[in-house]
Amino acid sequence: MRKILVLEDEENIRSFVVINLKRAGYTTVEAGTGEEALTALRENPDVKVALLDIMLPDIDGFEVCRRIRAMDSNIGIIMLTARTQEMDKVTGLMTGADDYVTKPFSPAELTARVDALFRRTGGGSRPLGTDEISIPPFLMNTRNRTVDKNGQRIKLTQVEFNLLRLFMENPNRALSREEILAAVWEDEYFGEVKIVDVNIRRLRIKIEDNPQKPQYISTVWGYGYKWGG
Ligand code: CA
Repeated sequence: MRKILVLEDEENIRSFVVINLKRAGYTTVEAGTGEEALTALRENPDVKVALLDIMLPDIDGFEVCRRIRAMDSNIGIIMLTARTQEMDKVTGLMTGADDYVTKPFSPAELTARVDALFRRTGGGSRPLGTDEISIPPFLMNTRNRTVDKNGQRIKLTQVEFNLLRLFMENPNRALSREEILAAVWEDEYFGEVKIVDVNIRRLRIKIEDNPQKPQYISTVWGYGYKWGG
C-alpha cells in the first residue's frame, strides 16, 4: 500500500495535493493541524511518506517533523514550504525532513518528489527486502546496478540505468517528460526536457528488440513515455 499523510491547513492546497497524489496511484490520509497529523499517524502505521506544511494553526511543521522522527525513523518526510528562505530548508532538514517542495509547485514536481522518496524509503512497488525487479525478459538488480535481458547483461550508463529503473518501478504508468526529468536528473537540467528524449532514444537502442518499433518503452504522444504498450 502506497499511503501518504498530507498535513496542510489550507483546504484548497490540501485537496489539490490529494487529488494529484490519488491520480498518481497513492492512498492519502488528510490532516489540517499538527495534532491531527500525529493522531492520524498513530492510527495509520502503514503511512510511508508524510507531506508537512510549515505554517499551521497549532504546532508548526518543524515541530510535527521532530515529533514524527521521535516515534518513527523510517517514514519519509517532505516539507511543503511557502517561503523560499534557505533557513527553512536548513531547519527542515535539521529536524529530520528528507526533502522539501516550495509552493507553488506543479503536480508533476510533487509526484516526482514523492515517487523518489518512496523509492528511497523502500515503499515502492517492489517487495521489501529484495534488490531485484523482475519484468520478463528483464531482471534488474538495484544493489549491483545491473540489468539482464533474457539472461544477457546489458551495459547501461548510470543515467540510463536510473531512467530504466524509473520505468520498471512504475510499469504501465504514463510518465510526463517533466516528471522523468525531475526524477532522474533532479534540478540540474530544469526545463530541458529534450535531454529526456535523447536518453530514451539511447536506452531503446540498448533494450528494445527493434528500436524503431519499441515495445517496452512506448511513446505517449504529447505527454511523455510509458513502460509497456
Ligand atoms: Ca499553512
